[in-house]
Amino acid sequence: MVKASSELEQAALDLLLERDVTIEEIAELVYDLQTPYLPNLTMENCIDNVHAVLRKREIQNAILTGIELDILAEKKLLSSPLQEIIENDEGLFGIDEILALAIVNVYGSIGLTNFGYLDKLKPKVINRLDTHKDDNEVNTFLDDIVGAIAAAAASRIAHANPTESSKKPTNPLG
Ligand code: MG
Repeated sequence: MVKASSELEQAALDLLLERDVTIEEIAELVYDLQTPYLPNLTMENCIDNVHAVLRKREIQNAILTGIELDILAEKKLLSSPLQEIIENDEGLFGIDEILALAIVNVYGSIGLTNFGYLDKLKPKVINRLDTHKDDNEVNTFLDDIVGAIAAAAASRIAHANPTESSKKPTNPLG
């Protein structure tokens, strides 16, 4: 278990775990995004990069804000019409994606591309959050937050490996 470097980071980590999202699951998305470019990438490296992303204050702020809104919507504590919009995860709301961009923007345009890709395909944990079985569960912000953290960590890896990352991926559809 990696130790958080601040109370805010610990709060963000705790909230993710409380909402049933593990660092390993986010790291899996990072691994899938980056192995076509970096075949020697390890899960350990991906986990380290997810933690590095979570050490950034603007990212912690986005996590705290988004998850709090999900929780308030679950408890039906928001005012109408925002309560219904977030509770029903209305497609035209768009603020969940905008909030997630605050995470992605920290690492520039590669992050944006990766985020769009994850948002469209909704692989693994993102799909689970998006299609949760319990009707009372609200993950309107969380699915985008998780995708954004993964996209940001993948960009961080790409920036650290500029030569490999500008090559064509070994499996472009992987
Ligand atoms: Mg969403």
